[in-house]
Amino acid sequence: MLIRSLWAPALLCALLAACGGPKTDAPATKAEADAASPKAAQAEPSPTAAPVAAVDGARIIAANEEPGAWLAHGRTYSEQRFSPLSRITSDNVDELGLTWAYKLDYDRATEATPIVVDGVMYVTGPYSVVSALNPVTGTELWKYDPKVALTKAREGCCGPANRGVAVWKGKVYVGIYDGRLAALDAKTGKVVWEVNTIVDENRSYTITGAPRVVKDMVIIGNGGAELGVRGYITAYDTETGAQKWRFFTVPGNPENPPENKAMELALPTWTGKWWEFGGGGTVWDAMAYDPELDLFYIGVGNGSTWNRAVRSPEGGDNLFVSSIVALKPDTGEYVWHYQTTPGDNWDYTATQHMVLAELQIDGKPRKVLMQAPKNGFFYVLDRETGELLSAEKFAPANWASHVDMETGRPVETENADWSKEGKLVSPGPLGAHNWMPMSFNPQTGLVYIPMQEAIAYLAPAPDEQYAGKGTWHLGAQPLALPENKKEFDGAVAAHRGHLIAWDPVAQKEVWRQSHVTVWNGGTLSTAGNLVFQGTADGRFVAYTADKGEKLWESPANSGVMAGPITYEIDGEQYVTVAAGWGGGFPLALGGLSLAAKVQPDSRILTYKLGGTAKLPPPKPGLIEQPAPPKVTGTEAQIAAGRDLYNSHCGMCHGPNAIGSSMVPDLRYMTAETHAMFPGILAGARAQQGMPPMMDVLKPEDVQAIHQYLIKRANDLHEGLKAAAKAPEGEGG
Ligand code: CA
Repeated sequence: MLIRSLWAPALLCALLAACGGPKTDAPATKAEADAASPKAAQAEPSPTAAPVAAVDGARIIAANEEPGAWLAHGRTYSEQRFSPLSRITSDNVDELGLTWAYKLDYDRATEATPIVVDGVMYVTGPYSVVSALNPVTGTELWKYDPKVALTKAREGCCGPANRGVAVWKGKVYVGIYDGRLAALDAKTGKVVWEVNTIVDENRSYTITGAPRVVKDMVIIGNGGAELGVRGYITAYDTETGAQKWRFFTVPGNPENPPENKAMELALPTWTGKWWEFGGGGTVWDAMAYDPELDLFYIGVGNGSTWNRAVRSPEGGDNLFVSSIVALKPDTGEYVWHYQTTPGDNWDYTATQHMVLAELQIDGKPRKVLMQAPKNGFFYVLDRETGELLSAEKFAPANWASHVDMETGRPVETENADWSKEGKLVSPGPLGAHNWMPMSFNPQTGLVYIPMQEAIAYLAPAPDEQYAGKGTWHLGAQPLALPENKKEFDGAVAAHRGHLIAWDPVAQKEVWRQSHVTVWNGGTLSTAGNLVFQGTADGRFVAYTADKGEKLWESPANSGVMAGPITYEIDGEQYVTVAAGWGGGFPLALGGLSLAAKVQPDSRILTYKLGGTAKLPPPKPGLIEQPAPPKVTGTEAQIAAGRDLYNSHCGMCHGPNAIGSSMVPDLRYMTAETHAMFPGILAGARAQQGMPPMMDVLKPEDVQAIHQYLIKRANDLHEGLKAAAKAPEGEGG
């Protein structure tokens, strides 16, 4: 039962992955020259005749002929995130050192993979800000800020993240958090064209993923399935921004005719009035392309609501939720699909990074697609036909016993269905693997997965109705964390993260390295027999690819989540990672993430052999707690405040008011903040990112929430006083 109380709410929050929560924002840290990085004016790449961002399909297909560049999101269309570069090896990696650092504007979810081509690095930060940098020095060449309203963070699940740009024929493409897609001039950062990708402005759509470019089309999806949307992806002409095609992933209201044959196929797999909640199926991250087969693959997200008994009460697989779908890139026409989680009930997105490779299976070379989605199974598919070749658990999973190879379907256990009665489910909605990209090394034959154990308690809220934009719709009860220290510590200990090396042919783990908690970074593997990964506890680490021996690490001043890259210029190999903390775990699980013991501090970090740059000191932790006001609310008012807080505030400020370092911990409010509390909820701090909430709260609700927070501030105050006498604090 221990986990019950704590995770009941926790699990919700656990949803993280693509989920969304109201997010508020701490004041932005404006970019300033980073003391660490030598930003003195240096010779920049000549702006004359040299080609800039001269990427096209032929060049990406031939990426191995110029291994010094990182041309596309996963380096190649196959998205292996393997580099043939080998100047940095397991023999000399101990000489690796920081050579420059570039400070980003916002210390929020930092998730980008940079592109490096023709002597320029293009990278994004939170709120979709794009920077072009000199990859040798870190000097800024230009910056484009799309000026997303900071309060827009409330309309996504997991912070104003951006996972990177695409580059094509002199332009840089960025999907913007508020739903715009922009094409920038690669030389200047000026907008060439911009389109709004959102089909329904009354729903909470966001963009956090990196676009992909195929055949002169830039393709982008969106997020929002925690807040009630219908998923789709759209292809636009790279030159003009004209729409070429759109593929919806789930059917709309059946009063309207299905858009195409795929929607005719999907419609009978739904029941009830799913369209009121949107149905979900957002394509918020993974895409891949096979130029020989001319197939474009998309990973489709969870159902909306999570609770299938609310979303589709008479059952059904709910195509194409939690599926991998192959499309013809010229038209967006459906070719095949494989559904990893029929009738998704757990936020088991299939949006996790997909890798294309050739594997020897039963003695024959097979063109495969590999994915390790949230649900805990590692899938190997024939990417020409969608045939399931194998599926085995790469992480603990109690929702299904195995995947039946006859039917290709998971066999659910008694533990799977929480629609009527709450259950402790693993993986929880954080997933056994989230968006942090894995990598495949063709030399070792291994896949390097940022795997995690994050169980969650899911309990139904069966009467949920769609309540409008900016509101979560899960059909599940809101999160809470245990207020009691012992249970809280149990929840912290139950979140475990690992880097695992997985043999996709034998379907078994070959080695692992364990971390202090979940939410560790994506991976890069190289021909130097190396795997690079950042960690939640603020380190950037190198391991041998074959055996997993730790060889080197460097402090990152912040939790690291993004996938690293490597490139080579003038005979020098560099390794870059976007360091910065945020996203679903610290936002929604608040204090659990403090086990990582880092503050968010976002920078692009670049290393080379013999690098000698130094980071500034890490940001200080929490300041001293101001003395809280006296509790004046009644027990009933405080109890009501607790429920209201967890429903409307906890997804950002932390369940039960145990905050993370991402947005203010409200137990630390000053007397001035207490005095203006109702005004803040009415929008007084919108400029700093705190969204107005009076569309969903009444004045008496605000009072109840305030009284609950005063109570929690006093709980902490008492706890800290006690801790000052004995070791250990925090928790209650
Ligand atoms: Ca989700």
